Amino acid sequence: MIRRRDLLVGGSAATAAYLAGSFLPLVAQNAPNFGAPSVVQVGFRRQKLGDIEIIALNDGVLRRPLAAEFVRNAPLATVQELLRSQNMPVEYIDIPFTAFLVVAGGRRILMDTGFADNGPATTGRLLANLQAAGLRAEDIDTVLISHYHGDHINGLRNRAGQLVFPKARILVPSMEHGWWMDDARMAAAPDAMKGAFQAVRRVFGGLGADVLSTFEAGAELAPGVRSMAAYGHTPGHTLFTVHSGNEKFAYVADITNVPQLFARNPDWAVQFDMDADAARESRRKVFDMVVRDNMVTGGYHFPFPAFGKVEKLGAGFDFKPVA
Ligand SMILES: [Zn+2]
Repeated sequence: MIRRRDLLVGGSAATAAYLAGSFLPLVAQNAPNFGAPSVVQVGFRRQKLGDIEIIALNDGVLRRPLAAEFVRNAPLATVQELLRSQNMPVEYIDIPFTAFLVVAGGRRILMDTGFADNGPATTGRLLANLQAAGLRAEDIDTVLISHYHGDHINGLRNRAGQLVFPKARILVPSMEHGWWMDDARMAAAPDAMKGAFQAVRRVFGGLGADVLSTFEAGAELAPGVRSMAAYGHTPGHTLFTVHSGNEKFAYVADITNVPQLFARNPDWAVQFDMDADAARESRRKVFDMVVRDNMVTGGYHFPFPAFGKVEKLGAGFDFKPVA
């Protein structure tokens, strides 16, 4: 098998736009053929974990035409067959975006951020959903970032340039931050990738050490909240686990894109995985862990409410959302 470490991440302009958070090409493709995806109406869900609470906060959804390059290493017909078998549409794919908030011991820790007002019309719902759950942006004291793709970081700073969570310290994986903030790497990157580097600078540029700090993978970031390296999707892609009493939660970020495809087939590579081989190794390791430890699992692109359990299914896994 060819090892793919190319920086083009699939290479298409649409992919680069997705990563950079500039969505116009995708939105233009969306609208005429397939209509707008439906946004969940009640976009927050509380989940008890021991004596703490975790709240899933939906930021919206994006509809993409299902093209052959979406799964790099499986024929489109095979991908469509798997969707059909789950009563899902085969012409397009709806990708939801859901961040998670840990409410514990007076702390309010948000994991990833959505788009704020930087994305298409069917995104940017996180703040409204936070309010619906009874909280305000000012109540967030910590933001943890899993990786630097636009759909995860753009919500830190609105279009006007203001920090969306004004009282929050922002904690980012050292490996991820170093990779994207390397100006020489940006200069050497193909043009299609430059927007992604610029988006990272738009969000993190000018933040002082009082706001932004890096952590090493494995570090405990708050009582019971620990980071875990899961490299591959991006060079520093990082997960977060939360323990309370005997109960465990794993926020697995983009260890898979939609689980209906990539949990069922953990060896399939979504076009956004920057190092597909490392990503599949991390995916199997993390899924083995959440099954073995019976962890409540939340994923950024999982179907809302995005909380559930992962079970073994054939040679892969199945994500079962909570009722
Ligand atoms: Zn993502």
